[in-house]
Amino acid sequence: ARRKIVAGNWKMNKTPSEAVALINELKPLVANDDVDVVFCVPAIDIIPAVEAAEGSNICIGAENMHFEESGAYTGEISPAMLTDAGVKYVVLGHSERREYFAETSESVNKKMLKAFEHGLIPIMCCGETLEQREQGVTMDFVRQQVKVGFLGLTAEQAQTAVIAYEPIWAIGTGEVATTEQAEEVCSGIRACIAEIYDEATAEAIRIQYGGSVSGESAPELFAQPDIDGGLVGGASLKPDFGKIVNCK
Ligand code: 13P
Repeated sequence: ARRKIVAGNWKMNKTPSEAVALINELKPLVANDDVDVVFCVPAIDIIPAVEAAEGSNICIGAENMHFEESGAYTGEISPAMLTDAGVKYVVLGHSERREYFAETSESVNKKMLKAFEHGLIPIMCCGETLEQREQGVTMDFVRQQVKVGFLGLTAEQAQTAVIAYEPIWAIGTGEVATTEQAEEVCSGIRACIAEIYDEATAEAIRIQYGGSVSGESAPELFAQPDIDGGLVGGASLKPDFGKIVNCK
């Protein structure tokens, strides 16, 4: 059986000192050894966050990284910088990065390959707009994002990767996808992985749902056969995150 993974995506919230305070506040609430718990934090918060999380079950993740090793890329963060700071996971291709920072599935793919070279576990985001859902092209679009994102990854790498299905219309809107909608796409993503690789890889890969997840909606979502946890924005900054991690 797959191990559940619940990750918070802090987005552009919390200064370094606020980050330490929040981790100290949430630490006892998310103590659960049956679930992988990840806090994906702004780059400048990473070092104090790793320190604050030490000795707990919380792993620290980054929200983005560059696909080059090093060099003249002003303002960017390299994979080696992340691993050296104690980062284990990295969110790649979040819809906000695709929309506001010109990320494409091609650049996400370069980052996926680079993440594995450095032993980082990518949480690759995908998901459709409201318009695409209304046009009935959701699954085609998401499958394409997954196919391009995973180009060149071995089955072994794919098995350790995490995919976050985040319908854009559900992000930060309070309008969570229905359990049926979320499960339908997550199971479609798993089928896509089986097509690219094989059944064993599809069975192993963890697929999260993201988009207005709360302590209230999480139990039903996470009980679905193809939903292995969540990528949580707003609620990851609050004690509600403890409920989400511990929901049965
Ligand atoms: P919300 O949980 O705030 O809707 O954000 C979801 C998200 O984008 C997580 O990456």
